[in-house]
Amino acid sequence: MEIKIIVNSFVDLFFPMRCIDCQEVIQPSQFLCTNCSTKLPFTHWKLNQDNDLYHKLINLSKVETAYSLLHFKHKNNTQKILHEMKYRNRPDIGIDLANLINIDLSDYDGIIPIPLHEKRLKKRGYNQIGYFAETLAKNNNIPYFFDGLVRTKYNSSQVRENKKNRIKNLKNAFEINPKLLPGHYIIIDDVITTGATLVSAIKKFNSLDNFKISVISIACA
Ligand SMILES: [Zn+2]
Repeated sequence: MEIKIIVNSFVDLFFPMRCIDCQEVIQPSQFLCTNCSTKLPFTHWKLNQDNDLYHKLINLSKVETAYSLLHFKHKNNTQKILHEMKYRNRPDIGIDLANLINIDLSDYDGIIPIPLHEKRLKKRGYNQIGYFAETLAKNNNIPYFFDGLVRTKYNSSQVRENKKNRIKNLKNAFEINPKLLPGHYIIIDDVITTGATLVSAIKKFNSLDNFKISVISIACA
């Protein structure tokens, strides 16, 4: 234990943690400095049918309620946070973000993250929303089904595809784990822009009887 503390002190000395927004040196357990964390664009929404995310999704699929913690705009600090989580091996930021959500989820039957395709998971090494989703489940004492959904299609890059092709590619991109019992589940996504990926997952559930879906995302455009 003592050796670990000494090693960590050296690491902090030579490679101090920096605020992912303003680059100020911060405590190793943080990801934003105090100043930047007060500037986060919180939605202050509730998990209900009275917000932009719900209205976006209900036009495309059958969803019960929806919530997003943050607003997403191109180049705002939300984008930096999501980038760190996804590409810079900081999925642990999701724990802190999940702990900021003060909504009672204890009546739901479980939490299901939008999964990565097996190939992408191997490449990246982790699902960027794994910790976020798992912490929400833990905080509310409900099951976490990390494999409730399985991604069956591997799209090497969606960026170069036009919108029509992207939607076509996403058709049947997911399968539901046959072991999942009917119930009301919360699907977790990191950022919702068009909602195409998420909607393709929700539609899988919509095609079955006795499944209800609500949605929680870290950020919503
Ligand atoms: Zn800062």
